[in-house]
Amino acid sequence: ITILGLESSCDDTAAAVVRLAGESRAILSSVVEGQAALHAAFGGVVPEIAARAHAERIDVCVERALEGAGTRLSEIDAIAVTAGPGLIGGVLAGVMCAKGIAAATGLPIIGINHLAGHALTPRLTDGLAFPYLMLLVSGGHCQFILVEGPEDFTRLGGTIDDAPGEAFDKTAKLLGLPQPGGPSVEAEASRGDAARFAFPRPLLDRPGCDLSFSGLKTALLRARDGVVAQREGLTARDRADLCAGFQAAVVEVLAVKSARALDACLDRSPGMSAFAVAGGVAANQAVRVALERVAAERGVRFLAPPLALCTDNAAMIAWAGIERFRLGHRDGLDLSARPRWPLDQHSAPMLGAGK
Ligand code: ATP
Ligand code: FE
Repeated sequence: ITILGLESSCDDTAAAVVRLAGESRAILSSVVEGQAALHAAFGGVVPEIAARAHAERIDVCVERALEGAGTRLSEIDAIAVTAGPGLIGGVLAGVMCAKGIAAATGLPIIGINHLAGHALTPRLTDGLAFPYLMLLVSGGHCQFILVEGPEDFTRLGGTIDDAPGEAFDKTAKLLGLPQPGGPSVEAEASRGDAARFAFPRPLLDRPGCDLSFSGLKTALLRARDGVVAQREGLTARDRADLCAGFQAAVVEVLAVKSARALDACLDRSPGMSAFAVAGGVAANQAVRVALERVAAERGVRFLAPPLALCTDNAAMIAWAGIERFRLGHRDGLDLSARPRWPLDQHSAPMLGAGK
């Protein structure tokens, strides 16, 4: 099975060709064009600019992906495209492109939930067996997903406000550090004293797997202003200590909630194959080490796919397409783009974990 994948739900325009032959999985090409430069001046992703850039670049990305894979459309079995959730203008650009190719070639389209793409990535990279627990932790998302089949997802909990990546980015902004905030805050934190400033650990006292990060931003702002009021400006030491305190709080919250989510999953299926993370925040060493420990303490394998496949890309969409294709799933030219599309539409609040 060879599938062309398209992704355009946020600020990356991407196309990829992925092949499954017997048991062997291969990413034949994966093209990602980031839009960071286009949005930099605005301090965030501007939906109209994103939509236009996707519409302008997606065809080029498809051509590059086919060329890079050394394939022609005649060798492709289906086109998998992110149909949501995401910025609707961007999603539409991808869906329209897929429909155009489908109309011209007669190839089937398969609509993919972007989050399912992230959640199924460990099966592409490591051939992971079901069931496993996935923590998706990025600039836009933070949720625990129990993955029991290609279309069988249960959300155990997630952030009730900001995503951790967003919190890292805001922290960097408040401290005058470069964007994206994750890497710069992590670098500062490695030189800092996490104990100097007291940061809250939101929602730890509440049962379930929901998380909250917006309070950390407020705490950071207050701590920063406290220092500035005394001394008119931040020293390098202050910055490092603020970053260290902030990061330690994020890490502890993620670790405690991960432990809870893993325990709930192990209760349900003791044969759980792994605890996997995806998303840009999974690049953080302190986060990784803490999550790895949580998994090790429970005798569960810990897995983090390579970063290029953890962040937005089209290989994961193509792979999710392969999984659905194998199940016989096909969409028609009436496939619609969905700005909101919860992953676990069918699931009940089992396990008593989260909402
Ligand atoms: P989504 O994929 O959910 O739509 P996104 O495109 O913002 O959102 P990613 O590309 O997966 O998400 O990740 C980017 C986020 O990861 C940014 O918020 C960035 O600050 C954060 N990040 C990257 N590296 C690190 C790091 N070392 N530590 C913490 N956070 C990091
Ligand atoms: Fe994503």
